[in-house]
Amino acid sequence: MARGLRLLSRAVVRLRPLLVQGLTRGFSASATEPLHVCVVGSGPAGFYTADRMLKGHEGAQVDIIDRLPTPFGLVRSGVAPDHPETKIVVNQFSRVAANGRCSFFGNVTLGRDVSLSELRETYHAVVLAYGAESDRSLGIPGEDLKGIHSAREFVWWYNGHPDMCDLSPDLKNTQSAIVLGQGNVALDVARILLRCKTELATTDIADYALDALCGSTIRNVYLVGRRGPVQAACTAKELREILGLKNVRVCIKEADLATSPADEEEMRSSRIQRRVYELLSKAASAHRDNNRNDQKELHFVFFRRPTRFIPSENGSTVGAVELEKTALKVDEVTGKQVAVGTGEFEDLKCGLVLKSIGYKSLPVQGLPFDKIRGVVPNLRGRVMSSESETATVETGLYVVGWLKRGPTGIVATNLHCAEETVASILEDDAKGVLRAPSDSKKHGRTGLVEILEQKNVRFVPFSGWEKIDSKEKMAGQLRNKPREKITTWGGLQEAANE
Ligand code: NAP
Repeated sequence: MARGLRLLSRAVVRLRPLLVQGLTRGFSASATEPLHVCVVGSGPAGFYTADRMLKGHEGAQVDIIDRLPTPFGLVRSGVAPDHPETKIVVNQFSRVAANGRCSFFGNVTLGRDVSLSELRETYHAVVLAYGAESDRSLGIPGEDLKGIHSAREFVWWYNGHPDMCDLSPDLKNTQSAIVLGQGNVALDVARILLRCKTELATTDIADYALDALCGSTIRNVYLVGRRGPVQAACTAKELREILGLKNVRVCIKEADLATSPADEEEMRSSRIQRRVYELLSKAASAHRDNNRNDQKELHFVFFRRPTRFIPSENGSTVGAVELEKTALKVDEVTGKQVAVGTGEFEDLKCGLVLKSIGYKSLPVQGLPFDKIRGVVPNLRGRVMSSESETATVETGLYVVGWLKRGPTGIVATNLHCAEETVASILEDDAKGVLRAPSDSKKHGRTGLVEILEQKNVRFVPFSGWEKIDSKEKMAGQLRNKPREKITTWGGLQEAANE
C-alpha cells in the first residue's frame, strides 16, 4: 500500500509540469519557458491587454512600457476632470500592475529609448497600445494662427499632461470661442470652458488651468458641425450633461432641426442618433423664450464647415473662422449622408478656436502603417505587413486600442478589443509560433533592463508612480481636491525618485 502511494506520488511529481502546462491555456512545445510579453502604452487598451494576458496564460510575464512617468494614458490625461466616475477604473489597473508577473516601465519612449526591433528581439510578443497622440488637421488657410489649438492640446493642458503645461491658451482677450466638431471631445472642452468654476475647483484639474479658467472672459461657445443635429457625433449622456449646465443658455436655430426622409431613416436605425436629436430639439424649445443676458451661451451651429481662419487686426492671432454653409448628400459608395459645400460663406468672430475633429495615431520606425486610415493594418490584432491581400503576418507583433481600430470608442470598448488581441496571442502561442525551442535570445524583462541600462535610461517603476500618486493626493487634500497633479517632466521624475 505504502509502496503504491510512493509510486503514485513519484508519477505525479514527474507529470506535474505537464499537468500545469495542460491546464494553462497557452500550451506550446516550450511551455516551461515564460511567455515574455511587452505592452507598449499603459492606457486602458494596454492595461486590459495585460490583465487578459495574465489571466489567460499562467506562464506569461507582462511588461508595460510608457513614455510618461505616469501610467493610465487617456484615463489620466484625456478623461475630463469633472468625470471622476470614469477614472475609477485605475483601481482595477493598479491591481493588474501589482501582479507579480507584471512590471511597469515609465519614462521609456518607443523609438527613442528602445526601438521596435529591439523589443521584438527581446520579447516573444510585443503589443502596441500607444493610442493616438496627434491630431487630424483641417488643411485650410490660417491653421497656424495663434489662438488655434487642437482639442487634444487643450485637454492635455487642463489635465496637467507634462507636454502641454506651457500651452497657456489665451482665455482673457475674447468673449467667444469656437469648437470645431460635435463629438464627445468637443462637448468636453466646451463644458470645461462654460462650467461654473467652483464646480471645477474640487476636481483634479491642473491648478494653472483652474486659475486661467477663473479669469476667463469667454461667454459664448460655438459648437460647429459640418452636418446636422441628426448626425452630431456626441452621445446622449454627455449631451444631456452639457445641456443642463447651470447658468448657460442653449441656442439652436429651429430651422436646423428640420429633418429629411434620409434623416428619419438614420434615426430609425440608430437609437443614439434619435436620442441626441430629441435632446437637441427639447433644448431648443426649452430655451426659446430665455432672454436672460446674465448667462453664458452655448450655440450649436449646424451645417457649416470651416474653410479659412481669418486673422484679427494684429495679424497673428485668430479673429474669425470663415464657414461655408453645407447641405447633406447621400454618398453613393458608403450610403452615408455627407456634407457638401453650397458656395455660401459667413464669418464667425472669435478669439479662441479648438479643433475637435479627431485624434491621430503616429507610426514608429519599422511598423506597417496605413497612413490614410491612421491605423496599423491587422487581423484580429495580429499586425499585417500591409493592407494588401498578399500581406503577411508580422510574427509576434500585435496591436490594440486606437492604434488598431482608429480613435473611437469609450474606455470600456478597449476591453473587448484587448480580449480579441489576447486571443490571437494565445492561439499563436498554442500553435508554437511564438516560442521556438531553439530561441534563447528572448529574455523579456532582463533583456529590457539591459537595453535601458546600456542607454542610461532612468525608467520609473510602478513604485515610482505610487510615490507620485501619494504626493499628488496629499497636495490635493490641502485644497479639497482628489489630487493636485504634478504637471512637469522634472517634477514627476523628482517625485518618482524621492
Ligand atoms: P468623433 O466622435 O469622431 O467626432 C469628431 C467630430 O469632428 C465629428 O463631429 C466630425 O464630423 C467632425 N469632423 C471630422 N473631420 C472634420 C472636418 N474635416 N471638418 C469638420 N468637422 C470634422 O471624435 P472625438 O470627439 O475626438 O471622440 C473620440 C472618441 O472618444 C469618440 O468615440 C468619443 O465618443 C470618445 N469620447 C467619449 C467620451 C465620454 O464617453 N464621455 C469623452 C470624450 C471622448 P462628422 O461626423 O461629419 O465626420
